[in-house]
Amino acid sequence: MRSRTIQGSSGRVHPLRLLGDPALTEPCQEVTAFDGALERLVEDMFATMYAAQGVGLAANQIGVPLRVFVYDCPDDEDRRHLGHLVNPRLVEADGPVLRGPEGCLSLPGIEAGTPRHDHAVVTGVSVTGEPRTVTGTGFFARCLQHECDHLDGGLYVDRLTGLRRRRALRAAARAPWAAAAGAPGR
Ligand code: ZN
Repeated sequence: MRSRTIQGSSGRVHPLRLLGDPALTEPCQEVTAFDGALERLVEDMFATMYAAQGVGLAANQIGVPLRVFVYDCPDDEDRRHLGHLVNPRLVEADGPVLRGPEGCLSLPGIEAGTPRHDHAVVTGVSVTGEPRTVTGTGFFARCLQHECDHLDGGLYVDRLTGLRRRRALRAAARAPWAAAAGAPGR
């Protein structure tokens, strides 16, 4: 499939914001300008996500406080889901709550069993303002919930409790990137 334009191939790779960066805990703003700058942002987000070998990326992870995320993520049946959403809203999160391995480009190298609903529906619009509805199950439902959390200023470690939370935060505090990011040593 070489003839197809690869999403993000014209984008610029940005440095990722890491745990401890205030950009990750501030809720993002609704997008109101559907212009070339928004298209470039989405291209840059794809380029950054692919460079980091991620399956999803929210705009505040590159320091842009807007409600936008991109994804290229398999579900549990190995179906590929590729796209972006502007002004997304998690309208359904239901089905069984499953604890599965989850990581984040803002906490590189760390993974923790995180509870998520098995089914999610997110509505929003495209870069050109066309309405979109994205439905996910399994690992892709997890991804959709994870990215929506980012835009509300949340991280998956906020969903952890007890020993799992302490273990993940301790690993983050000891990670090679922690000093640069100013991660709290909780
Ligand atoms: Zn993340």
